[in-house]
Amino acid sequence: RWVDVPALLPGLIDEARVLSGARQHQLELEATPGLLLLGNEKELRSAFANLLFNAVHYTPEGGRISLRWSSDNQAGYLEVEDTGIGIELRHIDRLTERFYRVDNGRSKSRGGTGLGLAIVKHVLMRHEAQLRIRSTPGQGSRFTCVFPAKLLRQSLAEREHAGAGP
Ligand code: ATP
Ligand code: MG
Repeated sequence: RWVDVPALLPGLIDEARVLSGARQHQLELEATPGLLLLGNEKELRSAFANLLFNAVHYTPEGGRISLRWSSDNQAGYLEVEDTGIGIELRHIDRLTERFYRVDNGRSKSRGGTGLGLAIVKHVLMRHEAQLRIRSTPGQGSRFTCVFPAKLLRQSLAEREHAGAGP
């Protein structure tokens, strides 16, 4: 099935806003219109939600969280970037293990289960996609799902729109 990712993301932003609540994060969304992804909508939605909700959980009040969906000739990119607490390099390789949680104040006080990123990894594996993680402690993190170009398509409506010109 072709999943209309740009149509899916505003709903996730709404949920993130509810989760953020009084902490008032700045939530930003940028998506390439009509950029479709071949896959399982439910699974992809849950993977993207896990990344976005992590950003909300691990970013202090008022921080900025960006959700982006784009592509180039090589691949499609679903990116979640935050200005949160960040993750030390020594933890990065283990984050997608089941039940792995970073031993810091904010993670422990929240009491999640440590399954979120294991689910993300599993879903991405089923879509031949990869998870790239970049993080700087005290500054923020960026999680990028990289999908192979063969799973991408530009919707017909958008192509016609682009072709129509000004
Ligand atoms: P669950 O998702 O099951 O409720 P969780 O959020 O602890 O629990 P994961 O989503 O798998 O589990 O994340 C694993 C750990 O990675 C977290 O406990 C946290 O320490 C760290 N982490 C994940 N995302 C971020 C982020 N955006 N910023 C900082 N740390 C993060
Ligand atoms: Mg989580």
